[in-house]
Amino acid sequence: MNRPELLLDYPFAAPPPPGEVREAAPGVHWLRMPLPFALDHINLWALEDGAGLALVDTGLGNDATRALWQQVFDGFFRGRPVTRVIATHLHPDHAGNVGWLGARFGAPLWMSQSDYLMAHAWRENTAGFATDAMLAHLARHGLTGELIEGPALRGNSYRHNVPDFPRTYRRIMDGDALAIGGRSWRVLMGYGHAPEHASLYAGDLGVLISGDMLLPRISTNISVNQVDPDANPLALFLASLHRYTQEIGGDPLVLPSHGLPFRGMRERVGQLEAHHAARLGELEDACTAPKSPAEVIGTLFRRELDAYQTFFAMGEALAHLNYLMHAGRFARLAGADGVVRFVRAASA
Ligand SMILES: [Zn+2]
Repeated sequence: MNRPELLLDYPFAAPPPPGEVREAAPGVHWLRMPLPFALDHINLWALEDGAGLALVDTGLGNDATRALWQQVFDGFFRGRPVTRVIATHLHPDHAGNVGWLGARFGAPLWMSQSDYLMAHAWRENTAGFATDAMLAHLARHGLTGELIEGPALRGNSYRHNVPDFPRTYRRIMDGDALAIGGRSWRVLMGYGHAPEHASLYAGDLGVLISGDMLLPRISTNISVNQVDPDANPLALFLASLHRYTQEIGGDPLVLPSHGLPFRGMRERVGQLEAHHAARLGELEDACTAPKSPAEVIGTLFRRELDAYQTFFAMGEALAHLNYLMHAGRFARLAGADGVVRFVRAASA
């Protein structure tokens, strides 16, 4: 069995227990919150920031997570305030409590503009972000029957998990140097997983808060959604990772959103490049005749998927197919039945 995680170095054998805090690096505190789906958990970070603490990501906006936050405030924080809430990106496990925490402490939200705006669009279920547009997109890419009812039945799951959201924020941009507790954290924007995902790097500490852009055990979800159906997020993601290896020196301690902190950034980027190259090769073998994204899910994921996982798998399948199309290795065909299919290009 392929166990790439064994090639990385993990300085911590186990995460902090729920409601407790562990120091991952000087002034960088590690918390873990549960997630009620296969991902299981998310890591959050609290950075020493003068009299208070700056939070990086917040967990899902539900009662279980808020009860654990309360334990942290009563215990580790001992009445110290939250000075600001930084969201690496808009996904609900990261941004679910930005409104609740901000209101409670009067703390501003710091976030990229693309993710801030898209969070509103998903919450409002508006225009091309509406559920009917998503279902039409899935049908156009070959999803039918019971599987397509899964996402439909979920309703506005984004709003459910991100129940409130601030009406103002402070925009952070690529290259910004955030002064937090006497340290400088550089913003590295990454692409392909979210519209504009912020990772934070402290050069003097040798610490990279990678968010979802670099994970030790699983590969980051790379999806095409209905508002940008021709997008090439896999190319964006791989280019972002390459840039990290160029701009971050040495062997930083990587603090990921899922899994354990690790060293071996360059090794891990190489593994992910090889992983996606292998998936692309398998699709080339599979698509000697035209296939829809739904028809190649089994090529990319060799296990039974529920409706929720199928939704993510559709996005991932289209991301790989679009990558091959943009590279000139695949052609895209519009079928008479209204379904889009992809086939290996004649010259490829
Ligand atoms: Zn994410």
